Amino acid sequence: MPASPGHVVVVGAGVFGAAAALELRRRGWDVTLLDPGPLPHEHASSTDVSKVVRMDYGADAFYHELAEAALEGWDRWNREWPRPLYHQDGFLILSRGPMAPGGFEHESWRVLRERGYRPERVSGSDLGGRFPAWRSGALTDGYFNERAGWAESAEAVARLVELGQAAGVRWRAAAFRSLREVGSSVGGVITTAGEHVEADRVVVCAGAWTPTLLPWLSDRLRATAQPVVYLGVDQVDHFGAPAFPPWAADIAGSGWYGLPALADGRLKVGHHGRGIAVRPDQRPAVSDGHVQALRAFLRETIPSLADAPVVGTRSCLYCDAFDGDFLIDHDPDRPGLVVAGGGSGHGFKFAPLHGVLIADVLEGHPNRWAERFRWRSASAGRSEAARARKA
Ligand SMILES: Cc1cc2nc3c(=O)[nH]c(=O)nc-3n(C[C@H](O)[C@H](O)[C@H](O)COP(=O)(O)OP(=O)(O)OC[C@H]3O[C@@H](n4cnc5c(N)ncnc54)[C@H](O)[C@@H]3O)c2cc1C
Repeated sequence: MPASPGHVVVVGAGVFGAAAALELRRRGWDVTLLDPGPLPHEHASSTDVSKVVRMDYGADAFYHELAEAALEGWDRWNREWPRPLYHQDGFLILSRGPMAPGGFEHESWRVLRERGYRPERVSGSDLGGRFPAWRSGALTDGYFNERAGWAESAEAVARLVELGQAAGVRWRAAAFRSLREVGSSVGGVITTAGEHVEADRVVVCAGAWTPTLLPWLSDRLRATAQPVVYLGVDQVDHFGAPAFPPWAADIAGSGWYGLPALADGRLKVGHHGRGIAVRPDQRPAVSDGHVQALRAFLRETIPSLADAPVVGTRSCLYCDAFDGDFLIDHDPDRPGLVVAGGGSGHGFKFAPLHGVLIADVLEGHPNRWAERFRWRSASAGRSEAARARKA
């Protein structure tokens, strides 16, 4: 039977939690958003200058459709919010060899075309002519999808929190320690300061912290550290959009992807790889070896960036689900508890859908996307199509 609004505690104010809190409040719930803050929390995975928003998911048409719906949500937010936080600058996808059936690039291209999009093919020999920062011939093949771009991620979370608070969400600057048990159900949370916060429902959206806070999930979710490097560039026109759109270069093999330079000259390069399993409070620094590997890759592909100064690094945490799919469902063993996480390094782009999805699951309403994210036992691991196997 669908739940009727009462008091809900949402634990964690990253993109999953901030979106859930806002939507639940709009549906009439009395919402407490629990996060130590300040918000957006500087260590949250959602808190970064930019995230790629793409529909390109190899042969996995489910995520293509999900991203297509999310893009409509970003368009709506751009119309409604004081300034656009999604920038439709496209996505350049390059492959090491000719795009071939079964490969990430070819399958993404195929699904796009089958679903009515007309991405522009970019051959290796044309690469530098079309996108001047790139060296022609550095990669062999690829395409440019104009229905994609990037989002100002920390700003978007700040906006969701602000909208939530304006609608009546109460932010409580505290950290979750444990669930508050009432008989065999969950009746709120206990903070690290020992305060009991009573509630009818609890939604845990604590990203990479989730398997530490709810240890029975550690077979399904784990935190992995992923390196991000920010380079400083002077030529913002050359390395900014549209001349230099978000890109992925043989990503399922190499892991390298990047975003256009911001107005302040910061250009972000990430690595979508296996990462390093960590405890969230023990994240490693980005190694010199990683920066050297990045420079070697750039020397081959975008030579004028190879010696750009490193102006920042960040070891960002993925909340990796064993199968790369989000986990958004009721805990079958703990009535009153919903878990929403497992972003697995690709969850931000779906921000406009998370609130409705999580609220529908909590309230027991049908949602066309929810089945894929249901509660499930850990089995053989796989990962999202773009993810490289190397660390
Ligand atoms: C390097 C990197 C690059 C990425 N790039 C992309 C991309 O280009 N495109 C894309 O779509 N996705 C991307 N992602 C994935 C995306 O960022 C995540 O899927 C998404 O941000 C996860 O949001 P979240 O709300 O689950 O977690 P988070 O944003 O981590 O939020 C968790 C919140 O929980 C809070 N918390 C922790 N412990 C407690 C506690 N005890 N009590 C209360 N609150 C607590 C934290 O303070 C934090 O605010 C990337 C991730 C990383 C790390």
